[in-house]
Amino acid sequence: MKKPDSMDECLYFTRRTIGDGHIVAWALKKECPECKKALMGKPIGKEGKVKIRASEYVCPECGHTEQKKEHEATLTLSVEYTCPHCKHKGESETKYQRKSFQGVQSFIIACDNCGEKIPITKKMKEPKKKK
Ligand SMILES: [Zn+2]
Ligand SMILES: [Zn+2]
Repeated sequence: MKKPDSMDECLYFTRRTIGDGHIVAWALKKECPECKKALMGKPIGKEGKVKIRASEYVCPECGHTEQKKEHEATLTLSVEYTCPHCKHKGESETKYQRKSFQGVQSFIIACDNCGEKIPITKKMKEPKKKK
């Protein structure tokens, strides 16, 4: 599993504590399929700030553009985890695609030891606790 050397290589990076476990997850930027000289990312506005809400990804080198959905469908999310259920330490890869988990959009991996699902929710939102 390739680990990022710097944040610049990541489209997404997160570190979370989930119950008694924790995860580190990242998605590496994809090399531009057109010129193969640069990594594609969100477009950068005039002020030099990344347009986080942009609906497309561009190559800073040649300007090749891909729509958000198509682009993200080709990406992989890599996860290093300590399972909150059984404390197993493992690695997992999944598609860069969120699914609904207890009503919250999340990336979901499954522990390869106990098989329990480990959700990586969107920030600031925790799944509702079961009562
Ligand atoms: Zn390019
Ligand atoms: Zn487990």
